[in-house]
Amino acid sequence: MALQLYDSFTRTLRPITAAQPDGVVRYYNCGPTVYAAAHIGNFRTFIINDTIRRVLELQFGSDKVRYVRNVTDVDDKTIRQAKLEQRPLREITQKWWNKFSADCRALGCLEPHVEPAATDHIPEQINMIEVLMDKGHAYRAADGSVYFKVDSFPEYGRLSRLKERELKPGSALAAGNTGKDTASVDADEKEDGTDFALWKAWKPEDGAVKWEGPQGQDPGRPGWHIECSAMSRKHLGLTLDLHTGGVDLLFPHHENEIAQSECCNGVKFVRHWYHSEHLLVDGKKMSKSLGNLYTLDELTEMGHAPMAVRYALLAGHPRKQLNFTLDSLHAAAKALANLRQFRAKLGNQSGDTALFDPVFAALHDDLNIPGALGALFSIVNRGPDGVDAETFDRVMFAFGFDLTEPEQAVSEAPAEVTALAEKRWAAKQAKDWPTADALRGEIQAAGWTMKDRKDGYDLEPAG
Ligand SMILES: [Zn+2]
Repeated sequence: MALQLYDSFTRTLRPITAAQPDGVVRYYNCGPTVYAAAHIGNFRTFIINDTIRRVLELQFGSDKVRYVRNVTDVDDKTIRQAKLEQRPLREITQKWWNKFSADCRALGCLEPHVEPAATDHIPEQINMIEVLMDKGHAYRAADGSVYFKVDSFPEYGRLSRLKERELKPGSALAAGNTGKDTASVDADEKEDGTDFALWKAWKPEDGAVKWEGPQGQDPGRPGWHIECSAMSRKHLGLTLDLHTGGVDLLFPHHENEIAQSECCNGVKFVRHWYHSEHLLVDGKKMSKSLGNLYTLDELTEMGHAPMAVRYALLAGHPRKQLNFTLDSLHAAAKALANLRQFRAKLGNQSGDTALFDPVFAALHDDLNIPGALGALFSIVNRGPDGVDAETFDRVMFAFGFDLTEPEQAVSEAPAEVTALAEKRWAAKQAKDWPTADALRGEIQAAGWTMKDRKDGYDLEPAG
């Protein structure tokens, strides 16, 4: 059995294969921008990618998959945050990078084989920009920024089917709809409105963030897109077997990566593109103003186990939008408890290793996780007789479900008690002890005890 994934470039379902004779699948996943805590929408993407990596490892062997996930540590957002906190860029990005790594571990994601940071690869990026300039694919604008000349690459737009839509200078499409690095869109400096920045000349608001530019000129910083082209080339080579990311990265980020890499290297950049869909929360797009941008900490502070978060984020088809609700976390915790009890009954027994074939068949069919979970629970519901423990463990590895994690008490406190607890937590943070004590009394009167931890609290029924 072999994993087939929908390829966004050919728009067909195709098997993942390794092109190089060493048989290693070269796999690049666009990583986080480290300027704040990642939210569960970000984590959905990374958990899906972790699951792809696990399924590939089971298929090819654990030493035959090389998974690289980068860290974007220089862009408008990281610079803005460093300025806001009046700290060096690296201090801010390292802090949030560490937090991201800790969250990934808690969510059961395997460490990437390489986790390169953009600021550690400035020479590699400069080198690519210089090659692109030498080959006539890039030019220096009046302000010293360097732009990629989109009309020098006739293949531009094939991934996102750009010609079937319309690319007008200054349109939302040309500007890039990701909200990322919008400052790169400065039609005055560019020969053509669709050209995008490879190098951004230093501006006063960049503060101390600058490096020597291409050809030793024009200090500044790299554009976001060239970071991924340079880091993937360094750590995986000229042609990748699999490149993934959230669907919001398809245009312009991945389109631009193709243009840069293929014009610079002269060979095909990516053999298979895979994009996962967005997460909705309570049926709505996540946004700060709606207050539905959950971080992992916020969910664990409510008493939810990280493994339940992983389960809930995996429960939908990766290429469909998934609606996340707090109720889905309760369902996930129950499902994990069922799996844990079932595993305990298996002991070391051997049984029919083919029993779980339908689970793997669903995973291999474009990562149909809901189908795979359905097949899994039909086995669990039949009972442990004849079930092979080792194969069951392989299935758990594929999903990344760690059943050894101690069961955390999931707070079933009613909303009004949770609201009191939130108020008391805020009062405590503000060192408003009288209010905090009064609220503790109210919580107790409602039949609950609030136990403080270093970084949060637990709500337990008073007993
Ligand atoms: Zn990227």
